[in-house]
Amino acid sequence: MFSYRHGFHAGNHADVLKHMVLIATVKHLTAKPSAITVVDTHAGAGLYRLDSDYADTSGEAQDGILKLVASPLAAEPPPLVADYLALIASFNAAGKTKVYPGSPFVTQALLRQDAKDKLWLFELHPTDSKALAAHIEQLHAGRQVGLKRDDGFEALRALLPPPSRRGLVLIDPSYELKHDYVRVAATLQESLKKFATGTYMIWYPVIPRPEAHELPRRLKTLANQAGKPWLHAVLNIGQSPERAKTHTPGEAEPRPGLTASGVFLVNPPHTLKAALQQALPALVEVLGRGKGQSQLVESAG
Ligand code: SAM
Repeated sequence: MFSYRHGFHAGNHADVLKHMVLIATVKHLTAKPSAITVVDTHAGAGLYRLDSDYADTSGEAQDGILKLVASPLAAEPPPLVADYLALIASFNAAGKTKVYPGSPFVTQALLRQDAKDKLWLFELHPTDSKALAAHIEQLHAGRQVGLKRDDGFEALRALLPPPSRRGLVLIDPSYELKHDYVRVAATLQESLKKFATGTYMIWYPVIPRPEAHELPRRLKTLANQAGKPWLHAVLNIGQSPERAKTHTPGEAEPRPGLTASGVFLVNPPHTLKAALQQALPALVEVLGRGKGQSQLVESAG
């Protein structure tokens, strides 16, 4: 079974990028009155405490959401960052950031009951899927949210195209298995054939591994071949000398802390590129740790 547990990483810089882009994308889709469907293939536990043992051990939120809320940027954020901070704040008491919503809760907070929006969640880890189910039950969201302990790549197949014909597929694996990189690309390729107008958002780690390096290139090729617009954004907070290694319990070896991650979208909101070009330099300024810090926004179509 996997050793990856998102609780160790919740609220880190990668979550800041991912959830900020997720919010912008869901908001864009819900700006039109017709219903949308969101499929979250790798959902995690849904809600995390930043003062839990997990979060304390890794301290990754210190270099992410907690650094951001304490920064001067929080007082005057660019629109994407403002929306992100407002959503995180809505899960917390005023002036505190103790609870961090994962992608299921970020998305659900933006969906509309009356528009019949639908959210599908898949999580394979037994503990996290149980935690997710318990968290979702507290929402009393009724039929709006469907969840299953299942392989998200496989489960997605049966859901496309969604009856709403509008929607988003979020693919956010932990990439513990080398095979995940291949499955992500194959899933995008197959899904675009079934649901060509859907928006797809894929998160990936920027790490020195050939598969990780190759993934955005492969995704660009797939989107170009399908004649679909795409957007690619990377946030790199650089290496801090004193925190060059993090050790997550359950992992055999300390691994270099993640310094950068990317999101790749097919059929992105047309407003997203300009908004990211404003937000990412400001985020690098705040979250950047020095050597290697950078950001990138590129698109086509
Ligand atoms: N999307 C979540 C968020 O943003 O809050 C975080 C997800 S975490 C990066 C990846 C999750 O995928 C882990 O909880 C892991 O247990 C789960 N997982 C791994 N392989 C899976 C698969 N094939 N299908 C569904 N879930 C899987």
